[in-house]
Amino acid sequence: MEYDVVVAGGSIAGLLCAREIAAAGHSVLVLEQDHEIGTPQHCGGMLSRRALERLGIVPSVDMAGNAVTSAVLVAPGGRSVTVKSGGVLEVDRRALDKYAAAQAQRVGATVRVGATFRGAHEGGARTSMGDIPCRVIVDARGAAALAPGPDMLVSAQYEVQAAWIRRGRVVVMLDQAKYPGFFAWVIPSGAGRGKVGVAGRRINAQAEMEGLLSRLGGGSVLRKIAAPIWVGGPIGRFVQGNVVVAGDAAGQSKPTTGGGIYSSGTGGMLAGRAVSKYLETGEAADLDYRPTWMDIFGREFEAQRAARRILERLDNGAIDGMVESIRPQDVRAASVGDFDFHAGSILSLLGMRGAAKMAGAITASEMRRLLGRARRPGA
Ligand SMILES: Cc1cc2nc3c(=O)[nH]c(=O)nc-3n(C[C@H](O)[C@H](O)[C@H](O)COP(=O)(O)OP(=O)(O)OC[C@H]3O[C@@H](n4cnc5c(N)ncnc54)[C@H](O)[C@@H]3O)c2cc1C
Repeated sequence: MEYDVVVAGGSIAGLLCAREIAAAGHSVLVLEQDHEIGTPQHCGGMLSRRALERLGIVPSVDMAGNAVTSAVLVAPGGRSVTVKSGGVLEVDRRALDKYAAAQAQRVGATVRVGATFRGAHEGGARTSMGDIPCRVIVDARGAAALAPGPDMLVSAQYEVQAAWIRRGRVVVMLDQAKYPGFFAWVIPSGAGRGKVGVAGRRINAQAEMEGLLSRLGGGSVLRKIAAPIWVGGPIGRFVQGNVVVAGDAAGQSKPTTGGGIYSSGTGGMLAGRAVSKYLETGEAADLDYRPTWMDIFGREFEAQRAARRILERLDNGAIDGMVESIRPQDVRAASVGDFDFHAGSILSLLGMRGAAKMAGAITASEMRRLLGRARRPGA
């Protein structure tokens, strides 16, 4: 057994990376430690149709049959505001990841489940299947591969059946006491079923989840998962020697929501193209795809980190005040915003200039980063 590339992690980043490498004519093996691609589903599955298409995925009814038509933002005191949304889908990650695995396999990649990557060694990968010689290793092991710290949040998400889950209506609940640094959510997978989750800094996610579910009206719980969410932005280096890091493992999930199907999937694709080029030229510099990824996401992620820093300084009273002061024109502006590059929408919706005043302690450079991005909505 010998491959040009071994990819550790068979989720969206690893599979799209392998697809690109195999399509360029190189041999690639994907190792997935779980026993089924796409399972357990540790994702809400929300992303735009345009993002899916940019990843080279054709959404089928089975994979992405549910459009998200509105998002309700609920303040800690109960006041809410509803934003219409267009072009946003709820996808089934079990189906999406299997689709990506099939794409990779069709162009020549090999995918193995129940196979664990254990580390790199001189000339190859150490794995549960033995040592495998290869020229490049791609680390796409997800957020759990990153060092724990304040930017690593804990989350719990249940798949729930309950009459109060409305088709197409996502709910986002803010509460700094219960979900510090994040929020709780309901993402419908259809009428009466969906994914209900909580995340925050140093919380007992399971206990918060139980409390939330009973406040929302209970329901049948079909599946429970717990998973880390990284909100710290991209790591400093995507390449170390012959190891290329991609996806959540490289910090490529959004600093606001932790969403990463698009940005981490893009990371996987760009990493795959860079690895293919390196295999052809032998030039180590060709492996470094960080500048290309940063060209697409760098500025937006900076703005999202600034928005996060501001929101984190607000207590529940300030958030209530902010949601109360949202004007119809703010809602309209947010409704036409770009789901994948949404720092501008957050600014519109939350009246961030007012929020900045409330937070009191925002540095001029933080504000410039946020406003600099928001002046160019959809860029
Ligand atoms: C609760 C929750 C809700 C989310 N909701 C959304 C959402 O609505 N929209 C969105 O865009 N994003 C969402 N995300 C984020 C999204 O799931 C990730 O950004 C995306 O899955 C990252 O893909 P990835 O391939 O980088 O890593 P992952 O999807 O984390 O995959 C890593 C893979 O590597 C495997 N692995 C780990 N270690 C090894 C090893 N040693 N050997 C072999 N395999 C290994 C794991 O089993 C896993 O399959 C959510 C995340 C969470 C936790």
